[in-house]
Amino acid sequence: MGVLALQGAAARHADALTALGAEAVLVRTPEDIASIDALVVPGGESTTISHLLDTSGVRAPLAERLEGGMPAFGTCAGMILLATDVLDGRDDQRSFGAIDIGVRRNAFGRQRDSFEADLEVAGLEGGPLHAVFIRAPVVDRVGGDVEVLAEVEAGPVLCRSGAIMVCSFHPELVNDRRLHATFLEGV
Ligand code: GLN
Repeated sequence: MGVLALQGAAARHADALTALGAEAVLVRTPEDIASIDALVVPGGESTTISHLLDTSGVRAPLAERLEGGMPAFGTCAGMILLATDVLDGRDDQRSFGAIDIGVRRNAFGRQRDSFEADLEVAGLEGGPLHAVFIRAPVVDRVGGDVEVLAEVEAGPVLCRSGAIMVCSFHPELVNDRRLHATFLEGV
């Protein structure tokens, strides 16, 4: 299981996956992409990660693996990078279009840069999931094959389509490992 580690919150994701018994590989090079069977794309800054995908040479091999159906779990900036359409993005940032959603960056505005919420997640046993949102995006268009698993007033914040799962928040910042476990089960 790879964790994209060009920028952002990779280490805590690796810890969560390791705690669940997976072998976590920090992905920084095209060679790393060849060695993984699934990938977590963490939060951070999507414009920076987009730039580093180009300079590292990781973008092309990763795009090819995603097109080939490799499972991926994108959180916050990672959700932006896996989406088809990005609103309020920077002109030079590019996403993979691995899941047919439109997302709005920084959707909760600067005055509420950060907040926490308890989410009802469809199909998740064990009660609500505590979620930490940090300059989070929101989903504002959902394609036909996309399942919305959780939402807040502003819109969907957890979606899945085939092997791709994305969320607006930071599941690696809480001790609840259920979302990582759900992703691992599907791999
Ligand atoms: N606002 C950031 C972006 O656009 C995402 C924030 C995050 O990943 N916590 O990339």
